[in-house]
Amino acid sequence: MSREDYEIVIGLEVHSELSTKTKIFCSCPTEFGGEPNTHCCPVCMAMPGTLPVLNEKVVEYAIKAGLATNCEIASISKNDRKNYFYPDLPKAYQISQYDMPLCEHGYVEIEVGGEKKKIGLTRIHIEEDAGKLNHDDYGRGSLVDLNRAGVPLIEIVSEPDLRSSEEVDLYLKKLKSILEYIEVSDCKMQEGSLRADVNVSVRKKGQKEFGTRTEMKNMNSFKSIVRAIDYEAERQIEVLEDGGKIDQETLRWDDVSGKTFPMRDKEDAQDYRYFPDPDLVAIKISEEMKENIRKSLPEMPESRKERYINEYKLPEYDSNILISSKYFSDLFEGATKVCNNAKAVSNWIMTDITKELNEKELEPSDIPFTADELGNLVILIDKGTISSSIAKKVLDEMFKEPRDPQKIIEEKGWVQISDEGAIKEIVLKIIEANPQSVADFKAGKDKAVGFLVGQAMKETKGKANPQMLNKMFLEELNK
Ligand code: ADP
Ligand code: ZN
Ligand code: MG
Repeated sequence: MSREDYEIVIGLEVHSELSTKTKIFCSCPTEFGGEPNTHCCPVCMAMPGTLPVLNEKVVEYAIKAGLATNCEIASISKNDRKNYFYPDLPKAYQISQYDMPLCEHGYVEIEVGGEKKKIGLTRIHIEEDAGKLNHDDYGRGSLVDLNRAGVPLIEIVSEPDLRSSEEVDLYLKKLKSILEYIEVSDCKMQEGSLRADVNVSVRKKGQKEFGTRTEMKNMNSFKSIVRAIDYEAERQIEVLEDGGKIDQETLRWDDVSGKTFPMRDKEDAQDYRYFPDPDLVAIKISEEMKENIRKSLPEMPESRKERYINEYKLPEYDSNILISSKYFSDLFEGATKVCNNAKAVSNWIMTDITKELNEKELEPSDIPFTADELGNLVILIDKGTISSSIAKKVLDEMFKEPRDPQKIIEEKGWVQISDEGAIKEIVLKIIEANPQSVADFKAGKDKAVGFLVGQAMKETKGKANPQMLNKMFLEELNK
């Protein structure tokens, strides 16, 4: 048999930190960073005798996520204790949800090779994050930082509906964008706001039962996830082809060697001894609360896309890129409102802004300037105040130290030369310095004008108005 005779099966458990101001069971801030152990109190440090109080916003955000992913919302739900020992978990149990999660039976739609496919969501539940162990920052030994302990998470569990690393990539991007649109999580991957446990198995095509799965925990880069899935599927197929069998185990993905390594045997739910948390009351969700949250949902990406195509007359290609991130989409709409030139704004986002983000390894949420500032930049080009090559320099400057583009060009003296007299002076100078090009033009080589305009732009460091140059060169050369 060969590689092609197998099918890959993947299911994801995605953890997303919620952007509530305070933690899930106390009033400590959820803010990332800060000196170790400064965002904690007796509750999140698990002092004996303290009692948790559920943050209502956490429930609201989780329901929002459930509604945005087509889930059924429970009318009654509860918190359970998941018992395990680890130094970053001072209570020795995590408050999570076991058999009565807030949301169930949803789906997220992705588009694979032009076809829509629904990826089922088994459930979305709320839980608390653990603290963090710093292994090498303070010399020998590890120290615990509990700033993250008690930060609210939702866990989004997918059905084993994914069939390739490509589908996983599309699914994760879609999920991230949904969470950004509904503003329940900032989804900053580098800060660990979005991370996934990746379950992978393989089976012969046509086989009904799933194969045994392995699980790679806590992955926080889309690129690594794709690589890890491809490697792990390949490894499993090889084991099976050699007559072996797959052990159900937890693996660690190593990005440097590009391989997976066994970490521990997979634990089962029974190992955790789940039981209802006696310190917390049941969560009742009224129809009214559900309806209010439903009404608060913002316009979702698909609807924005329709609008971009119909209202702004943008190509579908542009629209897809713009809606892929809420930050792109908001930037686009805001800037277009200011300058009334949708296609120009879209081009800036798709080309120069994306390029800059890629080079600096930034995400759309890191764009430092405002939509108004981008809109004003487009206005300056449209009015002819600056050329598009100067505009690129202005954009660079906006990334470095965001301020109004008008201010930037004044400070830098980058205003376009559009004065007829000044342009004529440059044109005459360039003609005189390039007799060969002039001769070429007279001999019928129209392209020579382009060269001369280029020389004039160089001479003026990109500040001359290229349309005026072109016109005046033709006038002079045809004299
Ligand atoms: P846990 O990993 O916590 O024991 P579950 O049994 O609910 O939890 O499964 C977790 C994830 O594993 C789900 O996303 C599910 O889709 C996925 N999964 C289950 N069986 C398989 C399989 N055979 N191959 C790939 N993924 C699987
Ligand atoms: Zn606290
Ligand atoms: Mg799991």
